[in-house]
Amino acid sequence: MTRSLTLLGATGSIGASTLDLVRRDRDAWRVEALTAHSSAAELAALAREFGAKIAVVSNEACLPALRAALAGSGIEAAGGRQALCEAATRPVDMTVAAIVGCAGLAPVMAAIERGGTIALANKEALVSAGEVLMQAVAKHGATLLPTDSEHNAIFQCLSGNRLSDVARITLTASGGPLRTWSAEQLAAATPAQAVAHPNWSMGAKISVDSATMMNKGLEYIEAFHLFPVGLDRLDIVVHPQSVIHSMVEFRDRSTLAQLGPSDMRVPIASCLAWPRRMETPLAPLDLAAIGELTFFPPDEERFPATRLAREAIRAGGSAPAILNAANEVAVAAFLAGQIGFTRIAAVVEETLQRSNDSPRPATLDEVLAVDQSARRQALTLLETNALV
Ligand code: NDP
Ligand code: MG
Repeated sequence: MTRSLTLLGATGSIGASTLDLVRRDRDAWRVEALTAHSSAAELAALAREFGAKIAVVSNEACLPALRAALAGSGIEAAGGRQALCEAATRPVDMTVAAIVGCAGLAPVMAAIERGGTIALANKEALVSAGEVLMQAVAKHGATLLPTDSEHNAIFQCLSGNRLSDVARITLTASGGPLRTWSAEQLAAATPAQAVAHPNWSMGAKISVDSATMMNKGLEYIEAFHLFPVGLDRLDIVVHPQSVIHSMVEFRDRSTLAQLGPSDMRVPIASCLAWPRRMETPLAPLDLAAIGELTFFPPDEERFPATRLAREAIRAGGSAPAILNAANEVAVAAFLAGQIGFTRIAAVVEETLQRSNDSPRPATLDEVLAVDQSARRQALTLLETNALV
């Protein structure tokens, strides 16, 4: 049976992994919409290859290039944020949400309001708007399939179990490429060093987040919303081999873990085929060859980001959205060579301190307003060199 698919963020790393799986099983899928921000030529090539009905660049300035690249193909071209949300509301069997950052929030919400099935990789949307998104999921009868590898692991471990029997959920963290670096070395880390992840190949933003451990902080907040067992039952352990993708301990002290290769095609396949299974091209897990699995507590002195995230979700209100927005601004500044590596967490902490503590945003627009104001605050910090 052919199923229809929309892929938000088709030109990114998750987008490429998703399309690799679709390419291997072309008869199983009909591609409705593919989206990108500015990569018009790349998007047009994918839209032609997969016979998409519509291709959307959210950066409207890139629409003429997209139109030109799609000329004669019969594929509709559209541009701008509104067009992106409209594409996300087209009825499909599966939406893969793989835009990076809070920019993915509005289209994810559009897909949720349609009551669709959404494979959610875009963790920033859930961090910024956790309550608003989860309420909309319940209200519109949408199905959210966690695609982030840790949350997909937890989702699999919880299958057939009751949340009330969960004693603890443990997120594993690779620790990133700079895990063993001293504080002095970290202060001098370059973007190239920070994005050189030992186990995973990912987009630049999440690669930096992995190096700072903010990725695990965002995932902690993501887990809080997806699996409501309470913060006291959420834990983080560093596991450099990235073989165990996360674990659930039950009250009888039985722990279930999901293991697999560190390749996003595994959790993406789990979402695409859910509730069944599909083939992936990956080699079987060879534990004898891996030999050793090790575990360490997170070091929040050198990597304060997990502490900031824990504090933000405990504070609640607008703090998680502020944390996320400030982090997006700081990571972009780091990648542009404007601030040092250890300044990323400092910008986030200072933005949280300077932002007025406002009540929990109750609507999408309120979340986006908090996001915008936190971005301005973080940019002001950078422009006034308050921290550098
Ligand atoms: P990439 O940077 O590789 O890709 C991002 C995609 O989003 C691209 O298609 C990009 O288009 C599009 N995009 C960027 N900015 C905007 C914007 N302002 N509006 C609309 N679209 C935009 O990211 P990843 O694939 O690495 O990550 C995507 C999401 O998945 C992130 O939230 C990340 O945290 C999460 N994730 C990623 C994992 C991974 O292994 N990569 C693992 C787990 C989660 P364009 O090419 O035109 O810029
Ligand atoms: Mg992850």
